Amino acid sequence: MLPVVALVGRPNVGKSTLFNRLTRSRDALVADFPGLTRDRKYGQANCEGLQFIVVDTGGISGDEQGIDAEMAQQSLLAIEEADVVLFMLDARAGLTVADEAIARHLRIQNKPVHLVANKVDGIHGDSEVAEFYRLALGDVHQIAAAHGRGVSQLLESLVKPLAERFPDMLTTEADPAAEELDAEAQLERLQNQPIKLAIVGKPNVGKSTLTNRILGEERVVVFDQPGTTRDSIFIPMERDGREYVLIDTAGVRKRRKVSDMVEKFSIVKTLQAIEEANVVLLVVDAREGLSDQDLSLLGFVLNSGRSLVLAVNKWDGLDTDVKNDIKRELDRRLGFIDFARLHFISALHGTGVGNLFESVQEAYASATHRINTAMLTRIMEMAQADHQPPLIRGRRVKMKYAHAGGYNPPVIVIHGNQVQDLPDSYKRFLMNYFRKSLKVMGTPIRIEFREGA
Ligand code: GDP
Ligand code: GDP
Repeated sequence: MLPVVALVGRPNVGKSTLFNRLTRSRDALVADFPGLTRDRKYGQANCEGLQFIVVDTGGISGDEQGIDAEMAQQSLLAIEEADVVLFMLDARAGLTVADEAIARHLRIQNKPVHLVANKVDGIHGDSEVAEFYRLALGDVHQIAAAHGRGVSQLLESLVKPLAERFPDMLTTEADPAAEELDAEAQLERLQNQPIKLAIVGKPNVGKSTLTNRILGEERVVVFDQPGTTRDSIFIPMERDGREYVLIDTAGVRKRRKVSDMVEKFSIVKTLQAIEEANVVLLVVDAREGLSDQDLSLLGFVLNSGRSLVLAVNKWDGLDTDVKNDIKRELDRRLGFIDFARLHFISALHGTGVGNLFESVQEAYASATHRINTAMLTRIMEMAQADHQPPLIRGRRVKMKYAHAGGYNPPVIVIHGNQVQDLPDSYKRFLMNYFRKSLKVMGTPIRIEFREGA
């Protein structure tokens, strides 16, 4: 489990600037898909040795009536579900009435809050920042999100309150020899455990119907699990002799004792489920086409490195012409995720549901298929012979060898001289080359570069 950090504040204080800085991927290749980067509201932060889920709550203005109801609902829910709130203020503007309204709301939430004064590059002296202490929410962190100033100190302050509860948030720099052993141990574990399958999608796409459909055909062991609003239910099941744990984000098997809120769609719950899963089944609604929310979820899945199967639901009762139009549109907009299988299903009637599991198995098998050093190095050498790496600062980039650095997703670590400076175009070429040579389907792959032997 990763902790959830919510960015809260009135419009224009710099939330998305900080969000972008935190979520800018170390491995731009995985995250850099056209059409997914704009307008993201939640993402995975991976910086300064820390990993966490970050949610930009966007719509909070302090005047909850004034904003679109669902948006405000989601923002409030995200705050409720967050482990820490970063309450952002604009140091240049000073304290405003809206800030005070938000502060009042946060005080009753009883949630750890860090005050963050942004844009300190634009102020002279400390008086603007001093005002923020009046909110009585503790210390004020001073940052300039646009320039990165103060951000590492801010992150540092998150470690102490969170790391004990969320040890996974600390990422460690790998040592190559230990890494190879770790990858092997990880593979062993992955190959001997049930496949954790998360069924995710925005509200009303048919997740509950699909989950019931899948479970209806299986012998289900339902058991009580304590939990908070953001916990999914884990349901063990078997299919074709393979063990699974279904991660039910739709709350199908949740006991009725919990409040109404729990049954509602929760972004944070969905993100946690993706993090927990080995394979994600992303459900979209054929009749609605792809929405921003679908693309955001997709972006999150890609970023997390999970295996992916796409289900286009409600494929019943549509004319052939309409079906063709939908297919064409999906092809056009999803062309860039050529590794994921696309299924057209009707959860209501059960059509196509059985076949989903073939793709799930295939995706998991691809993500957990052993790749050895000799093979990876050979593929790397072939790629290098096919298309010579460029000169950088007058020296030819030289890739020396490759090994597996992990699985689910498969991570390929390439060692060599100046490899970290390879241009994105060459990295992309390598990615495609490895993908084709390894014949992986259903899982993204990652390439990491290390200087030296
Ligand atoms: P949001 O509405 O809270 O998401 O705010 P944005 O991230 O969109 O930022 C609003 C404006 O403030 C943009 O024009 C940013 O370029 C600017 N901004 C953000 N961070 C900083 C900063 O650290 N210093 C300065 N001077 N401007 C900033
Ligand atoms: P969830 O919010 O994603 O869990 O969505 P639900 O499973 O509750 O479904 C939302 C609505 O879509 C319900 O009225 C379902 O009956 C309907 N629905 C779900 N799957 C299908 C399908 O395959 N075809 C059609 N026509 N309707 C469906």
